[in-house]
Amino acid sequence: MIHIKLSSSQISNIKEKWAFWFFKAKRINKFIAVLDEDAVFRQFLFEKADYNEWKKQYKKRTQVIKCKDWQFPVMAYFFEDLSDKDCVLKKYAKKLKPSTVSFLLCAYNSYRQSITLAQIIDEIGIQVCPYCNRNFIDRYALSDWQGNKKFYYKGDLDHYYSKNEIPALILSFYNLIPCCKVCNHEKHDSNLRTFHPYYDYEDEEYCFSIELYSDEDEVDIIYEKPLKEIENKRYDSTVWQGVSDNFKIIFKGIHNSELDESMENSNKVFRLEKKYNHSKEYVKELIRKQYIYPEIKKKELLKNFPEIFKTESDLDDVFFSTSSLTIDKAYDRPLSKLTKDILKQLG
Ligand SMILES: [Zn+2]
Repeated sequence: MIHIKLSSSQISNIKEKWAFWFFKAKRINKFIAVLDEDAVFRQFLFEKADYNEWKKQYKKRTQVIKCKDWQFPVMAYFFEDLSDKDCVLKKYAKKLKPSTVSFLLCAYNSYRQSITLAQIIDEIGIQVCPYCNRNFIDRYALSDWQGNKKFYYKGDLDHYYSKNEIPALILSFYNLIPCCKVCNHEKHDSNLRTFHPYYDYEDEEYCFSIELYSDEDEVDIIYEKPLKEIENKRYDSTVWQGVSDNFKIIFKGIHNSELDESMENSNKVFRLEKKYNHSKEYVKELIRKQYIYPEIKKKELLKNFPEIFKTESDLDDVFFSTSSLTIDKAYDRPLSKLTKDILKQLG
């Protein structure tokens, strides 16, 4: 799981694109009709601002929809910080009028298919699903027969709080998590509170680790096949040369502590341990590289190829792609968290 970090300039670019998409006269007319009818929804947006005054300004001069001050209550609502999960539930888990829900769903569907969404995902800069850190989430441009370019986002958007659980957040930016189709499908219908990529920091919470099968293991992780008949699967030291499959990749709290609730839930919902145990070939490759790469060889390579390897970290990068493991590059690379943790474990 990868934390999505947004700088203030990224957030302001995203807001600008979103506002350009949302504030259209046709949509605002419907929005006002919905706000007129639904006092609960209206209260969410106009707790501090005066709704009647806001509406009056629009009726007097429709051009006001381009004005940032006028847009403010709407933007503040759809971009509200949702980091306090208890507070979010307490405040927003309320019934809305069917016309409000239908307005929000309709606007969400239009956003889902809009160029704006592809541009916003581009601004976020994420290439790999933040839940599984395994699948790419693509976006690209295609030209039609008239040469008009259209942008497409081919990943999914997960409603962190589902549409049924909290309809008020159907269109809220921090409730919409760009992710892969598999994770979105797996999270669907689950009310377990998982990792939130905008607010939770994976590095402080958990790590992947290689462990040998021991006497305690009854079954293998992926297929849950009994290990009893295959005694030589246990305590196989050739694992540390990267030639054996007799190990498991586990998901645990950092410093062997228990996983916290959201991480435990994420492991359950996204089946992380099962999925990551399909990456054994990749992990074996990392172990092999580490095994054949002692200090003496490092020095030899640095001496023999000064034109290629300027520093030791250039060399590490060629062997282990270490430069792509920094936080801001973690978005671009599947298995970046696994790679980082395993390299750490191997020293
Ligand atoms: Zn995923």
